[in-house]
Amino acid sequence: MLHRIVAGFTAAVAAFAAAGVAAQQYPTRPVQIVVPFAAGGPTDTVARTVADAMTKALGSGATIVVENLGGAGGTIGAAKVAKANPDGYTLLVHHIGMATAPTLYRKMQYDALKDFEYIGLINDVPMTLLTRNGFPAKDVKSLVAYLKANASKVTLANAGIGSASHLCGLMFMSAIDQELTTVPYKGTAPAMADLMGGQVDLLCDQTTNTTQQIRGGRVQALAITSPKRIDSLKELPTMAESGFPGFSISIWHGLYAPKGTPKPVVDKLVAALQQALKDPGLNKRFADLGAETVTQDRATPAALQKFLTDEINRWGPVIKKAGVYAD
Ligand code: ASP
Repeated sequence: MLHRIVAGFTAAVAAFAAAGVAAQQYPTRPVQIVVPFAAGGPTDTVARTVADAMTKALGSGATIVVENLGGAGGTIGAAKVAKANPDGYTLLVHHIGMATAPTLYRKMQYDALKDFEYIGLINDVPMTLLTRNGFPAKDVKSLVAYLKANASKVTLANAGIGSASHLCGLMFMSAIDQELTTVPYKGTAPAMADLMGGQVDLLCDQTTNTTQQIRGGRVQALAITSPKRIDSLKELPTMAESGFPGFSISIWHGLYAPKGTPKPVVDKLVAALQQALKDPGLNKRFADLGAETVTQDRATPAALQKFLTDEINRWGPVIKKAGVYAD
């Protein structure tokens, strides 16, 4: 009996030591960041920018690859990471949808507050209200007037229930007290392609996806959802200036690992994220796209966990009041 206990104890110590060594050497193979939306969209842009800077921060030999797994407002990709091996080789970059999905979806494949290790917050990004070129309204005021008479003819794209574009659309429809036909995509990259092609009429999406299309004249921007105008799109009035004083929404992003990822690995990832967020290249790219990098004190597990909890509590009643649910 004593034999077996000693053998068991020795095996446990050996396994623990091996895990410790593995954590010290981490990463020894490519790390995958799952983006729960289509490639080329705003969440993808944020994730790839962070992945590049974190690769540098992790040092020689580190590789980070991005996998896009869109659908169901980001819940499919998030579920994959929640169920992944907690070894630090599968991570998630997700946005505000992490906080809205628990109320919006009747059946969740994961628990946002129990199934993850939190690495830290990344940035905050405002949204822009866009129309396809040629749409018969040139500002928010004329859009609202047009919608009063033609709501049934107008389509509003989004990235599925619980996505940022869905929330922004809900806020807009509630502000103008008008229902529109919504068209869900696996991300706002394909939604943007259809807006540019004229297949859909309206889209509200992060500046990380819209800045270049606005500057290139490929879509028409009517307003920005931040409380103040932003430097990268100075000419764009805020929703408040356009007659909707309470209309403000900012999309935050965070980095997550599956629950049970060893603490030394989480610590390494936190240090790499913090280092990445100081990278001048990353900051320039974010600023060009209207995104604001978080301060270092927010790029921590505790800050992300608290912020996520607060956001779940903030959005829960709003969503329940709106009465929108998905299965
Ligand atoms: N910005 C999108 C949304 O949540 C998602 C994406 O494609 O990154 O609406």
